[in-house]
Amino acid sequence: MSASARPPVPRKPRDRRHWYQAFFALGLNAWLPSWFKGEIFQGGIKGVCVPALNCYSCPSAMGACPVGALQTFFGGLRFNLSIAEKKFGLYVAGFMAAVGSAVGRLPCGWVCPFGFVQDLLHKIPSPKLRIPRAMTFLRYAVLAVMVVALPLLIVDEVGYGQTWFCKWICPAGTLGAGLPLMLIKPDIRPLIGFMYYWKVGLLALFLAWFVVSRRPFCRTICPLGAVWGLFNKASLFRMAVDDGKCTRCDKCRRDCPVDMKIYESANSPDCVRCLKCISSCKFGAVSYGFLGKTETAPDLRAGKAAGSGAAGTGH
Ligand code: SF4
Ligand code: SF4
Ligand code: SF4
Repeated sequence: MSASARPPVPRKPRDRRHWYQAFFALGLNAWLPSWFKGEIFQGGIKGVCVPALNCYSCPSAMGACPVGALQTFFGGLRFNLSIAEKKFGLYVAGFMAAVGSAVGRLPCGWVCPFGFVQDLLHKIPSPKLRIPRAMTFLRYAVLAVMVVALPLLIVDEVGYGQTWFCKWICPAGTLGAGLPLMLIKPDIRPLIGFMYYWKVGLLALFLAWFVVSRRPFCRTICPLGAVWGLFNKASLFRMAVDDGKCTRCDKCRRDCPVDMKIYESANSPDCVRCLKCISSCKFGAVSYGFLGKTETAPDLRAGKAAGSGAAGTGH
């Protein structure tokens, strides 16, 4: 075959996902004047839920974290619930269901700033540790106990439950709100106590874990990822693997931010739908589809959209 007859070598697509993640991290925390004024942004849009674990109490946060909102709802859920409180609960649950039904866990791969933090820290060279699969089920227990049961069942003297997950666990809250507030509001420093040291210590442990393991918080703890993962198998956005093309070479798993074998279960609750496996697979076995449109690996490599030709099984 002459050199001119050779098929063109496909160009490896540039991975622009981190730019999207940076864009959303800034966009969700865009009210920068708050940092200089030493206060939390309280504009009218603050009550709107955002599709990410992005703390409401971050000084520049533009919206509300769905996990914080859900705990607030369960903390106030009693038989004498007002109409406004009922509407609030329906709104939060409806928001989570709408996002989940449309795209499943896709915001975890592209939007959530705390997922971005984990992806970045894991790039630091170090020995790497795999997470046992059994640990990934812990996130459902965190959701059931810390987000639903405790806020619902344990009430204070005025009859309200606490936001247990925010208060005792959430490292996104400590990073985005607890530490910054302590820096910009000197008047609250005398209030530092056990709880603060507990949260900062936990954050430090998580940050170290992010360096050595892939997305450990998303995979083992995060209740928002747990909820959206449950929609992966039924959402309009679908992943698919063509069994005829997949050689089980495991390249997709090596590049996957959650260490997943997509060829075993294309729409597993663990998948954050970053789409990295599509460009990783040199056999073109992985694709995604949304509302009848499908993108296959060769089409993505060539940088053009495919309108049809879904290759594969959804498992
Ligand atoms: S502490 Fe965590 S869960 Fe709570 S509102 Fe903030 S980000 Fe959301
Ligand atoms: S699972 Fe990870 S990426 Fe998804 S919402 Fe939670 S912290 Fe963010
Ligand atoms: S299986 Fe593919 S789309 Fe899912 S998280 Fe891994 S690389 Fe991303």
